[in-house]
Amino acid sequence: MNLAMFAAPPQSASRPSDPLDHLTDLLFHEMGSPGVYGRTALYEDVVERLAVLISRHREPDTEVMRFPPVMNRAQLERSGYLKSFPNLLGCVCGLHGTDSEIHAAVSRFEAGGDWTQSLSPADLVLSPAACYPVYPIAASRGPMPAGGWRFDVAADCFRREPSHHLDRLQSFRMREFVCIGSPDQAFAFRERWIERAQQIARDLGLTFRVDDASDPFFGRVGQMMALSQKQLSLKFELLVPLRSEEQPTACMSFNYHREHFGATWGIVDAAGEPAHTACVAFGMDRLAVAMFHTHGGNTTRWPTAVRDLLGFPRNDR
Ligand code: AMP
Ligand code: ZN
Repeated sequence: MNLAMFAAPPQSASRPSDPLDHLTDLLFHEMGSPGVYGRTALYEDVVERLAVLISRHREPDTEVMRFPPVMNRAQLERSGYLKSFPNLLGCVCGLHGTDSEIHAAVSRFEAGGDWTQSLSPADLVLSPAACYPVYPIAASRGPMPAGGWRFDVAADCFRREPSHHLDRLQSFRMREFVCIGSPDQAFAFRERWIERAQQIARDLGLTFRVDDASDPFFGRVGQMMALSQKQLSLKFELLVPLRSEEQPTACMSFNYHREHFGATWGIVDAAGEPAHTACVAFGMDRLAVAMFHTHGGNTTRWPTAVRDLLGFPRNDR
């Protein structure tokens, strides 16, 4: 028997090639679903070095929190996520029935049937961004101090946007700095980070531009939301031309939420006014892919200044 006759064609043969495809084997292990990858040691080393670099830029008096990949469903519902991005949300489901109902579901599967009919939603969703859990935690602490609060958060995030492009994952790492404070504090925080992040990108040797942006809000009402977000300059992105100048990849975002989270969670100052919030988000996987795309697959050949910045040992070369 000629096994080759039965082998599936390589996936790339059935897809138009993408400028990032050459990095796939070097950086990732396919796991059977688009946008969900195991990561090679080479790749993970760079992700970790980028994380250390970002930590070095953390402002004083910033509280560090790390979140799991899931969060409370009711909290995300209350944050308004379903109004904005219902299409991107992943929800945890389980077999919640009686023992015999669970047995029946498994037996159906073993008989070649569909066990997933018996699933029902749990009280958890997959976190779509790292900062959502921090607002209810802050709210539980009572009135905000005069200086506001700053947090450094991170989580594995999920967005249901399957794609074969290496810069659009379903499961990816997000790191964020968050400011909860007065309108002036939150706005100034975001302005500072727009400047600081560009310096980081320059130091990393990335080609980029910062532009105003809008989120991919769902549906027709979403188009209006995107328009008003742009008119109010609530979102900026640091864009790196990975596949083309026309469709650059957002590797970081700078968001001013005004009083949205303050009002939603009852985060107030001493006078009872709702807090304003802002966040800067680093797409860790996109940044790492951008580094390999820009400087090549062999980190020993990366520019000396970039290697030094990322703490690669000097004697490697
Ligand atoms: P956003 O909340 O959409 O501004 O996302 C924050 C950052 O997360 C973006 O600037 C990206 O760097 C990263 N990000 C968002 N979606 C994806 C995705 N599908 N794959 C990889 N990184 C992503
Ligand atoms: Zn955020």
